[in-house]
Amino acid sequence: MTVTVRFAPSPTGRIHIGNARTALFNWLFAMNNKGRFIQRFDDTDIARSKQEYADSILYDLHWLGIFPDVTEYQSRRFDIYDAAVERLKAARVLYACYETPEELDLRRKVRRTRGLPPVYGREALTLTPEQVAEYQADGRRPHWRFLLPNFTSDPLQPERTEVHWNDLVRGEETVDLASLSDPVLVREDGTYLYTLPSVVDDIEMGVSHVIRGDDHVTNTGVQIAIFRALDAEPPVFGHHNLLTTVSGEGLSKRSGALSIESLREDGIEPMAVASLAVLVGTSENVTAAHDLNELAGHFDPAATSKSASKFDPDELFVLNRTLMHHMSFEEARDRLMVLGISGDKAEPLWMAVRGNLDRLSDALAWWQILSDGPQEPAEFSGEDRDFLNQAFDVLPEEPWNGTVWKDWTGKIKEATGRKGKPLFMPLRLALTGRTSGPELSDLLPLMGREGTLARRP
Ligand code: GLU
Repeated sequence: MTVTVRFAPSPTGRIHIGNARTALFNWLFAMNNKGRFIQRFDDTDIARSKQEYADSILYDLHWLGIFPDVTEYQSRRFDIYDAAVERLKAARVLYACYETPEELDLRRKVRRTRGLPPVYGREALTLTPEQVAEYQADGRRPHWRFLLPNFTSDPLQPERTEVHWNDLVRGEETVDLASLSDPVLVREDGTYLYTLPSVVDDIEMGVSHVIRGDDHVTNTGVQIAIFRALDAEPPVFGHHNLLTTVSGEGLSKRSGALSIESLREDGIEPMAVASLAVLVGTSENVTAAHDLNELAGHFDPAATSKSASKFDPDELFVLNRTLMHHMSFEEARDRLMVLGISGDKAEPLWMAVRGNLDRLSDALAWWQILSDGPQEPAEFSGEDRDFLNQAFDVLPEEPWNGTVWKDWTGKIKEATGRKGKPLFMPLRLALTGRTSGPELSDLLPLMGREGTLARRP
């Protein structure tokens, strides 16, 4: 059987790094198993779902290197869910309930005070036809609950009923169906909650592995029961730990925190995002993978920790710097061109500056420093000014070869007696306006003799 996975966000906001973790876990799992990847939008909540969010999610996935084999929208598949509802009703495992939220709330409170677990007591199953008729006459419409198979013959006498699965990430997992309320699958207004459409689609689309966040572990117990009620074999499940901010808060699509879009706008490379999103909270070291193939080689769902992982955005810059440092000119060329960095000097510039960049676009500042001089010329003491004048006096004549920097500084040493930092720092400041940056031996040839002399303070 072909391994088939799906990434199933609801399109209610921009995806964040935690969603990217789920998408990448699925994508890398498919890569490692020659499988298929379905992009499924869980957009049954018509009011909150938006096409523009679905489009932005696809854009973000493409940016990360994820190209789904197919894209599906649940909002276009209601007929299929309606048919499943009819099947469940016919099997008498979907039943009508008429309680209002306030009534349910009150009942939960009563159960708590009696020391009972606050689960739904299946009171709707005891309604007489007259009571139902009365509710209907009052204009109440039913919501529909799935009858969890947690009893022998009397649903009002639930018994401990364990559902087991071997989780790809967490190993042996157990959920006791008696500890849960019968889930509402269809609301009063006929709209679907996430639970049933997801199972129906996983069956219909041949999903073999469901890899998602561990906030769904309990759902899995319920959904396995629904798979069985629909005569389907449940897929393999894997629940990865969730990412939190450094202060321990969960990430939310709605808040926009750590959205893929904002990271992209900050100049973070897709492979920095992907490497951290996949490797944080696993037993693997977090290093910058060059591409998804390399990352797939480090990916092992079973190596993921069971507790939440803190995600530090600063680590993205560390990975970004590593990626810049190793990025070949061929890889950078087109993007540099878009920044206006082209021509003969583009490659030597890139090779000179790449080891000093936080983000690729920072190359532009160095390009401007080289072509137009320091952006903010430095201030020098009288002593340093004299030193620099002496230094510029001994600048070698052209043509220059690869040793010009060494030759020049040798001559400066001889002429001024300075060495070390007192020699290099004023030169660096005069030439670039900055106290740190790429090797001056690489930058000097790019300035040329004339360009260098133009920097004489
Ligand atoms: N729409 C669900 C979510 O975003 C999907 C969960 C699942 O993968 O089944 O949490």
